[in-house]
Amino acid sequence: MDRIHWMYRLKRSDDRYLARLVGFLKAAEENRVKNEESYIWCPCVDCKNCQKSVYVKVEEHLIFRGFMPDYTCWSIHGEIMVGHNETSNIQRPAVRLAHSNSSVHTTNILHVWMIFLKFMREIV
Ligand SMILES: [Zn+2]
Repeated sequence: MDRIHWMYRLKRSDDRYLARLVGFLKAAEENRVKNEESYIWCPCVDCKNCQKSVYVKVEEHLIFRGFMPDYTCWSIHGEIMVGHNETSNIQRPAVRLAHSNSSVHTTNILHVWMIFLKFMREIV
């Protein structure tokens, strides 16, 4: 099951959504500890990675509100494990794509995902 499916297409009460959400929160928590931060950026549809919160609050937001659009690459939560300077170049075009016309929403997600996969292949 890919991320677009479980993050955006499953009902948030679905066991499969909740199981995958645990995986996301685990990654987010590990990233928080690694960066010695007190809170986790909340990628819910309202906070949009612009507000930090405690683990249980982020979990609650992602169950009741759901993920913000186009956040299949968890870049704010440590998904790209390289330095900030190196990641900034790859994140900027993804952010621009994520906010473009919603009628091509799915195409953009796939496009961003392809950029991410290409990037990962180059650094591994
Ligand atoms: Zn939130």
